[in-house]
Amino acid sequence: MKFVFITGGVLSSLGKGITAASVGLLLKSRGLKVTIVKIDPYLNYDAGTMNPYQHGEVFVTDDGGETDLDIGHYERFLNENLSKRNNITAGQVYMEVVERERKGVYLGATVQVVPHLTDLIKERIKEVARDYDITVVEIGGTVGDIESLPFLEAARQMGLEESSFYLHVSYVPFVRSVGEIKTKPTQHSVQKLREIGIQPDALVARGEIPLTPEARRKLALFSNLPLRAVVSAHDVDNVYEVPFLLDGQGLDDLILEKLGVGVYRPKDLSAWRDFVGRVEGGNKRVRVAIVGKYVEVRDAYKSLLEALVHAAAETGVGVEVGLIDAIDLEKRGTDPLKDYSGLIIAGGFGRRGIEGKIKAVQYGREKGIPTLGICLGMQLMTVEWARNVLGLKGAHSEEFDPKTPHPVIHILPEQKDLKRMGATMRLGGQDVRLREGTLIHSLYGRDTVRERHRHRYEFNNAYRQKFSESGMVISAEVGELVEAVEWPEHPFYIGVQFHPEYSSKPLQPHPLFVGFLKASNRL
Ligand code: GLN
Repeated sequence: MKFVFITGGVLSSLGKGITAASVGLLLKSRGLKVTIVKIDPYLNYDAGTMNPYQHGEVFVTDDGGETDLDIGHYERFLNENLSKRNNITAGQVYMEVVERERKGVYLGATVQVVPHLTDLIKERIKEVARDYDITVVEIGGTVGDIESLPFLEAARQMGLEESSFYLHVSYVPFVRSVGEIKTKPTQHSVQKLREIGIQPDALVARGEIPLTPEARRKLALFSNLPLRAVVSAHDVDNVYEVPFLLDGQGLDDLILEKLGVGVYRPKDLSAWRDFVGRVEGGNKRVRVAIVGKYVEVRDAYKSLLEALVHAAAETGVGVEVGLIDAIDLEKRGTDPLKDYSGLIIAGGFGRRGIEGKIKAVQYGREKGIPTLGICLGMQLMTVEWARNVLGLKGAHSEEFDPKTPHPVIHILPEQKDLKRMGATMRLGGQDVRLREGTLIHSLYGRDTVRERHRHRYEFNNAYRQKFSESGMVISAEVGELVEAVEWPEHPFYIGVQFHPEYSSKPLQPHPLFVGFLKASNRL
């Protein structure tokens, strides 16, 4: 087993996740088997109970994990699905240690952070690493945080047991007023890392502009590193270019040398290069609105935004996305939507902004604007149809109006008497059957597709007949459970109960987004 540990310095949101994903991609492109683990030092068991303001999007894995959004980056860069086991949190390991203590596993011992918790952390990492040549482990947070200490200690110990490479991603600010790159914050964070007993093998310097030779020399000297181990990771136009930035400075060669991976194939990055060449390549730009309620936080719609980038590269249509606040539509009406030729009604939870989303749905339906409803979006397409086409006054989802006379969306039977909120939704991938002759079937070109879920409510089958008779087609199902609706009289009006955005990848763009973008481009 071989490991690359990635730590963060100075501040968060540096793009450590993208760095980890890019390193993974470069190593994989040599023909090595590579996976990536994210460690989140918070005490939540998983990301599922945090709202998007806290944490951005909750990324759902095929095996039903509610994980950190970095897992989404890893899946997109590695071009494969990962497991919930790839996201380890402090909550999980602390809980397991206490459970083991109660079972008597440590009978007679005083249970401590070192060695009991650190042993368990190592065990969990190795469990994932077992089937791979190299495992990249990204340790969330910043060196110096209290929460991340046990994980850094486990990473240090693993260096004694297994061949390991330590990569420190740190902030190197460019101070505009003096026109200089400043290395001091990073010097301090490397010192902090050394205090813990980790000497980095390479430094990825994140900053606005490329490192000057002088800044590189200083960073190398103070970090005790050769010049070639200091990598400039300045801002680039899109994150998919980062692997080339790191590749151009030989980072993966350095890693393979240190890890002693002797015989390796030359890199094959041709498919990735081709994709990056097509991103933003289109000459025509289409404006797409995402109607949501967490629009202040772009990360809340990470996978959705990326899925549109993938579809844009596939179709050659440049896409410009506007994040539209549903609350704003509630107050001011649909005016902000008038410059868009496609609408995505995003998923979400809770009553806030719901009527604004319903207004957007009605606007898209009546004006013939391509509309894609995802999860909550699909549910509200159903509500809007019930109210305005079927004339069912007060129709709603039970989630927002438990006393509605027409609960066209109601709670899933298994969700009825739940006492616990964590990991209890309908979660993860299932095989969805598509109905022949529908638009969704023609987009996928298949009878069965695998899609991921995260919800508690569903289409109420008591209304199935009314919907069908009025022209709304139930176009996909899992058993009796409605997975998609569409209205064939409209250029593109599809609502899906699942989340197609989680499975879209640069090298496997999702057919629903590709179809949606093509339809929006026609307008
Ligand atoms: N709140 C809705 C439900 O639980 C939709 C969830 C979602 O959009 N992910 O069914």
